[in-house]
Amino acid sequence: MTKFNDLPLLDTILKNVQEAGYDSPTPIQAQSIPPLCEGRDLLGIAQTGTGKTAAFTLPMLQKLSGRDFSLTPKEPRSLILAPTRELASQIKEQIDKYGKDLKLKSAVIFGGVGQANQVNALRGGLDILIATPGRLLDLMNQGFCKLNRVEIFVLDEADRMLDMGFIHDIKKVIAQLPEKKQTMLFSATMPNEIVGIANRILKNPVRVEVTPPSSTVERIDQRVIFCQKAHKYQLLRKVLQDEGVELTLVFTRTKHGANKIVDYLNAHQIKASAIHGNKSQSAREAALENFKSGAIKVLIATDIAARGIDVQGVSHVVNFDMPVDAESYVHRIGRTARAGKDGDAISFCDETEREALSRVQKLIGLKLPVETFVGVAEKSVQDTRPPRPYRDPRAKPKAKPDQRQNSKPNAPVGQKAQPQPKKEDKSKVGYKFRNKK
Ligand code: AMP
Repeated sequence: MTKFNDLPLLDTILKNVQEAGYDSPTPIQAQSIPPLCEGRDLLGIAQTGTGKTAAFTLPMLQKLSGRDFSLTPKEPRSLILAPTRELASQIKEQIDKYGKDLKLKSAVIFGGVGQANQVNALRGGLDILIATPGRLLDLMNQGFCKLNRVEIFVLDEADRMLDMGFIHDIKKVIAQLPEKKQTMLFSATMPNEIVGIANRILKNPVRVEVTPPSSTVERIDQRVIFCQKAHKYQLLRKVLQDEGVELTLVFTRTKHGANKIVDYLNAHQIKASAIHGNKSQSAREAALENFKSGAIKVLIATDIAARGIDVQGVSHVVNFDMPVDAESYVHRIGRTARAGKDGDAISFCDETEREALSRVQKLIGLKLPVETFVGVAEKSVQDTRPPRPYRDPRAKPKAKPDQRQNSKPNAPVGQKAQPQPKKEDKSKVGYKFRNKK
Protein backbone atom coordinates (compact mmCIF):
# COMPACT_ATOMS: atom_id res chain seq x y z
CA MET A 1 0.00 0.00 0.00
CA THR A 2 1.27 3.44 -0.93
CA LYS A 3 2.43 5.68 1.92
CA PHE A 4 2.43 9.46 1.82
CA ASN A 5 6.22 9.34 2.05
CA ASP A 6 6.30 7.42 -1.24
CA LEU A 7 4.62 10.33 -3.00
CA PRO A 8 6.75 13.04 -4.59
CA LEU A 9 5.70 15.71 -2.10
CA LEU A 10 7.69 18.38 -0.24
CA ASP A 11 8.61 17.66 3.37
CA THR A 12 6.52 20.61 4.57
CA ILE A 13 3.45 19.24 2.82
CA LEU A 14 4.09 15.75 4.18
CA LYS A 15 4.39 17.21 7.67
CA ASN A 16 1.11 19.09 7.26
CA VAL A 17 -0.64 15.97 6.00
CA GLN A 18 0.68 14.04 8.97
CA GLU A 19 -0.57 16.75 11.30
CA ALA A 20 -3.98 16.45 9.66
CA GLY A 21 -3.91 12.88 11.00
CA TYR A 22 -3.84 10.97 7.73
CA ASP A 23 -1.92 7.68 7.80
CA SER A 24 -2.00 6.77 4.16
CA PRO A 25 -3.27 8.27 0.93
CA THR A 26 -6.76 7.35 -0.24
CA PRO A 27 -6.94 5.56 -3.63
CA ILE A 28 -7.65 8.75 -5.55
CA GLN A 29 -4.73 10.47 -3.85
CA ALA A 30 -2.34 7.59 -4.51
CA GLN A 31 -3.33 7.49 -8.18
CA SER A 32 -3.59 11.23 -8.87
CA ILE A 33 -0.75 12.85 -6.99
CA PRO A 34 2.19 11.38 -8.95
CA PRO A 35 0.90 12.31 -12.46
CA LEU A 36 -0.30 15.70 -11.23
CA CYS A 37 3.13 16.43 -9.78
CA GLU A 38 4.51 15.68 -13.25
CA GLY A 39 2.20 18.32 -14.68
CA ARG A 40 -0.32 16.00 -16.36
CA ASP A 41 -3.99 16.91 -16.82
CA LEU A 42 -6.44 14.76 -14.90
CA LEU A 43 -10.00 13.52 -15.15
CA GLY A 44 -11.08 12.39 -11.69
CA ILE A 45 -14.33 10.50 -11.41
CA ALA A 46 -14.94 10.72 -7.72
CA GLN A 47 -17.26 12.30 -5.26
CA THR A 48 -16.89 14.01 -1.92
CA GLY A 49 -15.68 11.65 0.77
CA THR A 50 -12.97 10.05 -1.35
CA GLY A 51 -10.24 12.50 -0.36
CA LYS A 52 -10.35 14.18 -3.79
CA THR A 53 -9.72 17.66 -2.39
CA ALA A 54 -6.31 16.67 -1.07
CA ALA A 55 -5.69 14.78 -4.32
CA PHE A 56 -5.70 18.03 -6.27
CA THR A 57 -4.65 20.56 -3.62
CA LEU A 58 -1.43 18.80 -2.55
CA PRO A 59 0.11 18.81 -6.05
CA MET A 60 -1.11 22.37 -6.59
CA LEU A 61 0.58 23.55 -3.42
CA GLN A 62 3.71 21.68 -4.43
CA LYS A 63 3.82 23.21 -7.88
CA LEU A 64 2.95 26.77 -6.85
CA SER A 65 5.49 26.85 -4.04
CA GLY A 66 8.14 25.34 -6.29
CA ARG A 67 9.34 28.56 -7.81
CA ASP A 68 9.75 32.18 -6.84
CA PHE A 69 6.99 34.21 -8.28
CA SER A 70 5.95 37.77 -7.71
CA LEU A 71 2.19 38.04 -7.54
CA THR A 72 0.33 40.32 -9.92
CA PRO A 73 -2.71 42.20 -8.64
CA LYS A 74 -6.03 40.81 -9.91
CA GLU A 75 -4.32 37.97 -11.79
CA PRO A 76 -4.38 34.75 -9.74
CA ARG A 77 -1.92 31.96 -10.53
CA SER A 78 -4.47 29.22 -10.13
CA LEU A 79 -8.23 28.83 -10.03
CA ILE A 80 -10.46 26.25 -8.37
CA LEU A 81 -14.12 26.47 -9.38
CA ALA A 82 -16.61 24.89 -6.98
CA PRO A 83 -20.41 24.81 -7.21
CA THR A 84 -21.39 25.94 -3.71
CA ARG A 85 -20.16 28.38 -1.11
CA GLU A 86 -19.87 25.58 1.43
CA LEU A 87 -17.68 23.47 -0.81
CA ALA A 88 -15.55 26.48 -1.77
CA SER A 89 -15.04 27.32 1.91
CA GLN A 90 -14.12 23.75 2.73
CA ILE A 91 -11.54 23.66 -0.05
CA LYS A 92 -10.05 26.87 1.34
CA GLU A 93 -9.89 25.30 4.82
CA GLN A 94 -8.05 22.29 3.44
CA ILE A 95 -5.62 24.48 1.48
CA ASP A 96 -4.83 26.42 4.66
CA LYS A 97 -4.24 23.16 6.50
CA TYR A 98 -2.05 21.42 3.91
CA GLY A 99 -0.31 24.62 2.84
CA LYS A 100 0.77 25.77 6.28
CA ASP A 101 4.26 27.39 6.21
CA LEU A 102 4.37 27.44 2.40
CA LYS A 103 3.73 31.18 2.23
CA LEU A 104 1.19 30.91 -0.54
CA LYS A 105 -1.70 33.34 -0.69
CA SER A 106 -5.18 32.02 -1.24
CA ALA A 107 -8.68 33.43 -1.04
CA VAL A 108 -12.21 32.24 -1.55
CA ILE A 109 -14.93 34.22 -3.31
CA PHE A 110 -18.64 33.48 -3.51
CA GLY A 111 -21.93 35.30 -3.76
CA GLY A 112 -24.37 36.21 -1.01
CA VAL A 113 -21.87 38.38 0.86
CA GLY A 114 -20.36 41.80 0.19
CA GLN A 115 -17.62 41.88 -2.40
CA ALA A 116 -15.25 44.42 -0.79
CA ASN A 117 -13.04 41.89 1.05
CA GLN A 118 -12.93 39.67 -2.00
CA VAL A 119 -11.90 42.55 -4.23
CA ASN A 120 -9.16 43.49 -1.75
CA ALA A 121 -7.85 39.92 -1.72
CA LEU A 122 -7.72 39.91 -5.53
CA ARG A 123 -5.95 43.27 -5.59
CA GLY A 124 -3.24 41.89 -3.32
CA GLY A 125 -2.47 39.10 -5.83
CA LEU A 126 -3.16 35.43 -5.20
CA ASP A 127 -1.48 32.08 -5.68
CA ILE A 128 -4.79 30.26 -5.37
CA LEU A 129 -8.29 31.56 -6.00
CA ILE A 130 -11.24 29.38 -5.02
CA ALA A 131 -14.50 30.63 -6.46
CA THR A 132 -18.10 29.87 -7.26
CA PRO A 133 -18.85 30.68 -10.90
CA GLY A 134 -21.44 33.48 -10.53
CA ARG A 135 -19.44 35.77 -8.26
CA LEU A 136 -16.25 35.11 -10.20
CA LEU A 137 -17.85 36.24 -13.46
CA ASP A 138 -19.36 39.22 -11.70
CA LEU A 139 -15.97 40.34 -10.41
CA MET A 140 -14.35 39.65 -13.79
CA ASN A 141 -16.98 41.80 -15.50
CA GLN A 142 -16.24 44.59 -13.08
CA GLY A 143 -12.55 44.34 -13.94
CA PHE A 144 -11.41 43.02 -10.55
CA CYS A 145 -10.12 39.69 -11.78
CA LYS A 146 -8.37 38.43 -14.90
CA LEU A 147 -7.58 34.82 -15.65
CA ASN A 148 -4.81 35.27 -18.21
CA ARG A 149 -2.07 34.10 -15.81
CA VAL A 150 -3.76 30.98 -14.49
CA GLU A 151 -1.23 28.12 -14.48
CA ILE A 152 -3.50 25.52 -12.87
CA PHE A 153 -7.25 25.22 -13.28
CA VAL A 154 -9.49 22.85 -11.30
CA LEU A 155 -13.15 22.32 -12.09
CA ASP A 156 -14.59 20.56 -9.05
CA GLU A 157 -17.92 18.70 -8.93
CA ALA A 158 -18.60 19.41 -12.58
CA ASP A 159 -21.81 17.37 -12.67
CA ARG A 160 -23.25 19.33 -9.78
CA MET A 161 -22.40 22.55 -11.61
CA LEU A 162 -24.50 21.23 -14.46
CA ASP A 163 -27.39 20.36 -12.10
CA MET A 164 -27.27 23.84 -10.64
CA GLY A 165 -27.44 25.52 -14.03
CA PHE A 166 -23.87 26.86 -14.05
CA ILE A 167 -22.88 25.32 -17.35
CA HIS A 168 -22.94 28.60 -19.30
CA ASP A 169 -21.04 30.42 -16.58
CA ILE A 170 -18.40 27.71 -16.63
CA LYS A 171 -18.02 27.97 -20.37
CA LYS A 172 -17.57 31.73 -20.06
CA VAL A 173 -14.88 31.25 -17.41
CA ILE A 174 -13.09 28.61 -19.46
CA ALA A 175 -13.05 30.94 -22.47
CA GLN A 176 -10.98 33.43 -20.44
CA LEU A 177 -8.31 30.94 -19.38
CA PRO A 178 -4.95 30.82 -21.14
CA GLU A 179 -4.25 27.93 -23.49
CA LYS A 180 -1.16 26.74 -21.61
CA LYS A 181 -2.05 25.45 -18.17
CA GLN A 182 -2.56 22.29 -16.16
CA THR A 183 -6.21 21.30 -15.89
CA MET A 184 -8.09 18.93 -13.59
CA LEU A 185 -11.75 18.07 -13.78
CA PHE A 186 -13.57 16.21 -11.01
CA SER A 187 -17.06 14.84 -11.33
CA ALA A 188 -18.98 12.08 -9.58
CA THR A 189 -20.81 11.18 -12.78
CA MET A 190 -20.11 11.89 -16.42
CA PRO A 191 -23.22 13.16 -18.20
CA ASN A 192 -22.73 14.00 -21.90
CA GLU A 193 -22.28 17.71 -21.39
CA ILE A 194 -19.46 17.10 -18.90
CA VAL A 195 -17.81 14.64 -21.28
CA GLY A 196 -17.94 17.44 -23.89
CA ILE A 197 -16.29 19.93 -21.56
CA ALA A 198 -13.69 17.37 -20.46
CA ASN A 199 -12.78 16.66 -24.09
CA ARG A 200 -12.39 20.34 -24.77
CA ILE A 201 -10.31 21.38 -21.79
CA LEU A 202 -8.21 18.33 -20.89
CA LYS A 203 -5.10 17.47 -22.87
CA ASN A 204 -4.08 13.83 -22.82
CA PRO A 205 -5.42 13.45 -19.27
CA VAL A 206 -4.81 10.69 -16.78
CA ARG A 207 -8.15 9.17 -15.90
CA VAL A 208 -8.68 8.13 -12.29
CA GLU A 209 -11.94 6.60 -11.25
CA VAL A 210 -12.77 5.64 -7.71
CA THR A 211 -16.05 4.18 -6.62
CA PRO A 212 -16.66 5.04 -3.02
CA PRO A 213 -20.41 4.40 -3.13
CA SER A 214 -20.04 0.69 -2.69
CA SER A 215 -17.38 0.88 -0.02
CA THR A 216 -19.15 3.70 1.82
CA VAL A 217 -22.55 2.19 1.27
CA GLU A 218 -21.40 -1.12 2.73
CA ARG A 219 -20.43 0.47 6.02
CA ILE A 220 -23.77 2.20 6.41
CA ASP A 221 -26.68 0.48 8.06
CA GLN A 222 -29.50 1.39 5.69
CA ARG A 223 -33.20 0.88 6.12
CA VAL A 224 -36.46 2.17 4.83
CA ILE A 225 -39.54 3.00 6.87
CA PHE A 226 -42.85 2.97 5.02
CA CYS A 227 -45.27 5.51 6.44
CA GLN A 228 -47.94 7.96 5.49
CA LYS A 229 -46.73 11.39 4.48
CA ALA A 230 -48.60 13.04 7.35
CA HIS A 231 -46.94 10.72 9.88
CA LYS A 232 -43.39 11.65 8.94
CA TYR A 233 -43.02 14.40 11.53
CA GLN A 234 -43.91 12.09 14.36
CA LEU A 235 -41.68 9.39 12.93
CA LEU A 236 -38.74 11.79 12.78
CA ARG A 237 -39.21 12.70 16.41
CA LYS A 238 -39.35 9.03 17.33
CA VAL A 239 -36.19 8.25 15.37
CA LEU A 240 -34.33 11.13 16.98
CA GLN A 241 -35.43 10.03 20.45
CA ASP A 242 -35.02 6.27 20.03
CA GLU A 243 -31.86 5.87 18.10
CA GLY A 244 -29.28 7.33 20.43
CA VAL A 245 -28.27 9.65 17.68
CA GLU A 246 -25.22 11.87 17.89
CA LEU A 247 -25.41 14.22 14.92
CA THR A 248 -28.22 13.75 12.45
CA LEU A 249 -28.49 15.24 9.00
CA VAL A 250 -32.07 15.29 7.72
CA PHE A 251 -32.68 15.74 4.01
CA THR A 252 -35.75 17.31 2.49
CA ARG A 253 -36.62 17.97 -1.10
CA THR A 254 -37.57 21.62 -0.65
CA LYS A 255 -36.38 24.66 1.28
CA HIS A 256 -39.88 25.20 2.60
CA GLY A 257 -40.01 21.59 3.77
CA ALA A 258 -36.72 22.11 5.63
CA ASN A 259 -38.09 25.17 7.43
CA LYS A 260 -41.23 23.32 8.41
CA ILE A 261 -39.24 20.53 10.04
CA VAL A 262 -37.12 23.02 11.98
CA ASP A 263 -40.27 24.68 13.32
CA TYR A 264 -41.79 21.35 14.21
CA LEU A 265 -38.71 20.05 16.05
CA ASN A 266 -38.12 23.32 17.86
CA ALA A 267 -41.73 23.26 19.02
CA HIS A 268 -40.95 19.85 20.51
CA GLN A 269 -37.84 21.07 22.31
CA ILE A 270 -35.46 19.46 19.81
CA LYS A 271 -32.90 21.99 18.68
CA ALA A 272 -32.53 22.04 14.92
CA SER A 273 -31.42 24.40 12.16
CA ALA A 274 -31.73 24.40 8.41
CA ILE A 275 -29.34 25.18 5.61
CA HIS A 276 -30.61 25.90 2.15
CA GLY A 277 -30.28 28.40 -0.63
CA ASN A 278 -32.71 30.92 0.85
CA LYS A 279 -30.66 31.36 4.00
CA SER A 280 -28.06 34.09 4.15
CA GLN A 281 -24.45 33.04 3.99
CA SER A 282 -23.92 33.98 7.63
CA ALA A 283 -26.98 31.98 8.72
CA ARG A 284 -25.73 28.94 6.79
CA GLU A 285 -22.27 29.22 8.27
CA ALA A 286 -23.64 29.66 11.79
CA ALA A 287 -25.89 26.60 11.39
CA LEU A 288 -23.00 24.52 10.07
CA GLU A 289 -20.68 25.65 12.85
CA ASN A 290 -23.29 24.85 15.52
CA PHE A 291 -23.75 21.44 13.98
CA LYS A 292 -20.02 20.76 13.76
CA SER A 293 -19.53 21.75 17.38
CA GLY A 294 -22.50 19.63 18.49
CA ALA A 295 -24.42 22.63 19.86
CA ILE A 296 -27.19 21.60 17.49
CA LYS A 297 -27.62 17.89 16.95
CA VAL A 298 -30.01 18.02 14.03
CA LEU A 299 -29.36 19.82 10.77
CA ILE A 300 -32.00 19.91 8.06
CA ALA A 301 -30.67 20.37 4.55
CA THR A 302 -31.67 20.37 0.93
CA ASP A 303 -29.50 18.38 -1.48
CA ILE A 304 -27.67 21.31 -2.98
CA ALA A 305 -26.90 22.98 0.33
CA ALA A 306 -25.61 19.74 1.80
CA ARG A 307 -23.44 18.93 -1.15
CA GLY A 308 -19.84 18.62 -0.08
CA ILE A 309 -20.55 19.18 3.58
CA ASP A 310 -17.90 17.40 5.52
CA VAL A 311 -18.75 16.98 9.17
CA GLN A 312 -17.08 14.27 11.18
CA GLY A 313 -19.31 12.34 13.53
CA VAL A 314 -22.61 12.40 11.63
CA SER A 315 -24.13 9.25 13.11
CA HIS A 316 -27.41 9.31 11.19
CA VAL A 317 -28.71 10.50 7.88
CA VAL A 318 -32.47 10.68 7.61
CA ASN A 319 -34.13 11.01 4.22
CA PHE A 320 -37.32 12.74 5.29
CA ASP A 321 -38.21 12.80 1.60
CA MET A 322 -36.87 10.24 -0.82
CA PRO A 323 -34.51 11.95 -3.28
CA VAL A 324 -35.91 12.40 -6.77
CA ASP A 325 -32.75 11.21 -8.49
CA ALA A 326 -31.16 8.07 -7.16
CA GLU A 327 -27.61 9.40 -7.22
CA SER A 328 -28.53 12.00 -4.62
CA TYR A 329 -29.26 9.08 -2.30
CA VAL A 330 -25.65 7.99 -2.46
CA HIS A 331 -24.45 11.56 -1.93
CA ARG A 332 -26.80 12.01 0.99
CA ILE A 333 -25.95 8.85 2.88
CA GLY A 334 -22.26 9.45 2.20
CA ARG A 335 -22.45 12.28 4.77
CA THR A 336 -22.35 9.59 7.44
CA ALA A 337 -19.76 6.83 7.83
CA ARG A 338 -16.99 9.38 7.24
CA ALA A 339 -13.38 8.63 7.95
CA GLY A 340 -13.89 4.90 8.34
CA LYS A 341 -16.69 5.10 10.90
CA ASP A 342 -20.03 3.38 10.60
CA GLY A 343 -23.31 5.20 10.21
CA ASP A 344 -27.05 4.79 9.86
CA ALA A 345 -29.22 5.93 6.99
CA ILE A 346 -32.98 5.85 7.43
CA SER A 347 -35.30 6.71 4.57
CA PHE A 348 -38.93 7.65 5.11
CA CYS A 349 -40.95 6.48 2.15
CA ASP A 350 -44.62 7.31 1.63
CA GLU A 351 -46.92 5.79 -0.95
CA THR A 352 -45.96 8.37 -3.57
CA GLU A 353 -42.25 7.63 -3.21
CA ARG A 354 -42.10 3.91 -3.94
CA GLU A 355 -40.76 4.47 -7.43
CA ALA A 356 -37.98 6.68 -6.12
CA LEU A 357 -37.09 3.85 -3.74
CA SER A 358 -36.96 1.36 -6.61
CA ARG A 359 -34.57 3.62 -8.52
CA VAL A 360 -32.31 3.89 -5.46
CA GLN A 361 -32.25 0.13 -4.94
CA LYS A 362 -31.44 -0.43 -8.59
CA LEU A 363 -28.56 2.04 -8.46
CA ILE A 364 -26.94 0.68 -5.32
CA GLY A 365 -27.72 -2.93 -6.23
CA LEU A 366 -29.21 -3.66 -2.82
CA LYS A 367 -32.66 -4.44 -1.57
CA LEU A 368 -33.06 -2.36 1.56
CA PRO A 369 -34.77 -3.74 4.66
CA VAL A 370 -38.17 -2.21 5.19
CA GLU A 371 -40.15 -1.46 8.35
CA THR A 372 -43.57 0.11 8.61
CA PHE A 373 -44.56 2.94 10.90
CA VAL A 374 -48.13 3.75 11.75
CA GLY A 375 -48.45 6.90 13.76
CA VAL A 376 -50.60 9.93 13.84
CA ALA A 377 -50.64 12.95 11.61
CA GLU A 378 -48.83 15.88 13.10
CA LYS A 379 -48.17 19.22 11.58
CA SER A 380 -45.48 21.79 11.56
CA VAL A 381 -46.39 25.15 13.03
CA GLN A 382 -46.20 26.54 9.53
CA ASP A 383 -48.98 24.20 8.41
CA THR A 384 -51.25 25.33 11.21
CA ARG A 385 -50.96 29.05 10.59
CA PRO A 386 -54.23 30.52 9.40
CA PRO A 387 -54.13 31.27 5.70
CA ARG A 388 -53.37 34.85 4.77
CA PRO A 389 -56.50 36.73 3.77
CA TYR A 390 -56.67 37.41 0.07
CA ARG A 391 -56.85 41.05 -0.76
CA ASP A 392 -57.71 42.09 -4.27
CA PRO A 393 -55.19 44.81 -5.07
CA ARG A 394 -57.77 46.64 -7.19
CA ALA A 395 -60.38 46.64 -4.43
CA LYS A 396 -60.99 50.07 -2.93
CA PRO A 397 -61.73 51.73 -0.73
CA LYS A 398 -60.33 49.70 2.18
CA ALA A 399 -62.71 48.73 4.93
CA LYS A 400 -62.69 51.17 7.82
CA PRO A 401 -60.72 50.03 10.91
CA ASP A 402 -63.80 49.75 13.12
CA GLN A 403 -65.51 47.49 10.58
CA ARG A 404 -62.42 45.36 10.12
CA GLN A 405 -61.98 44.64 13.82
CA ASN A 406 -65.11 42.58 13.91
CA SER A 407 -64.81 40.89 10.60
CA LYS A 408 -63.20 37.65 9.59
CA PRO A 409 -60.76 37.77 6.65
CA ASN A 410 -62.71 37.58 3.43
CA ALA A 411 -65.99 37.63 5.30
CA PRO A 412 -68.58 40.22 4.40
CA VAL A 413 -67.94 43.41 6.28
CA GLY A 414 -69.57 43.39 9.66
CA GLN A 415 -69.77 39.58 9.99
CA LYS A 416 -68.64 38.29 13.38
CA ALA A 417 -65.07 36.91 13.30
CA GLN A 418 -64.25 33.38 14.36
CA PRO A 419 -61.57 33.38 17.07
CA GLN A 420 -58.15 33.15 15.42
CA PRO A 421 -55.15 31.61 17.22
CA LYS A 422 -53.11 34.37 18.78
CA LYS A 423 -49.57 34.87 17.55
CA GLU A 424 -48.04 33.75 20.85
CA ASP A 425 -49.96 30.47 20.64
CA LYS A 426 -48.18 29.28 17.53
CA SER A 427 -45.73 27.03 19.33
CA LYS A 428 -48.47 25.36 21.30
CA VAL A 429 -50.44 24.53 18.20
CA GLY A 430 -47.48 22.51 17.02
CA TYR A 431 -47.55 20.12 19.96
CA LYS A 432 -51.06 18.97 19.41
CA PHE A 433 -51.58 15.48 18.15
CA ARG A 434 -54.15 15.55 15.47
CA ASN A 435 -55.83 12.54 14.03
CA LYS A 436 -56.14 12.80 10.35
CA LYS A 437 -59.72 12.27 9.36
P1 AMP B 1 -12.99 15.03 0.30
O1 AMP B 1 -13.39 13.86 -0.53
O2 AMP B 1 -11.86 15.77 -0.27
O3 AMP B 1 -14.18 15.90 0.60
O4 AMP B 1 -12.46 14.48 1.71
C1 AMP B 1 -13.27 13.81 2.61
C2 AMP B 1 -12.68 13.75 4.02
O5 AMP B 1 -11.57 12.86 4.06
C3 AMP B 1 -12.15 15.08 4.54
O6 AMP B 1 -12.60 15.19 5.88
C4 AMP B 1 -10.67 14.95 4.55
O7 AMP B 1 -10.12 15.70 5.63
C5 AMP B 1 -10.49 13.46 4.77
N1 AMP B 1 -9.26 12.92 4.16
C6 AMP B 1 -8.65 13.34 3.04
N2 AMP B 1 -7.56 12.60 2.78
C7 AMP B 1 -7.50 11.67 3.76
C8 AMP B 1 -6.60 10.59 4.05
N3 AMP B 1 -5.56 10.32 3.27
N4 AMP B 1 -6.85 9.84 5.14
C9 AMP B 1 -7.91 10.10 5.92
N5 AMP B 1 -8.81 11.11 5.72
C10 AMP B 1 -8.60 11.87 4.64
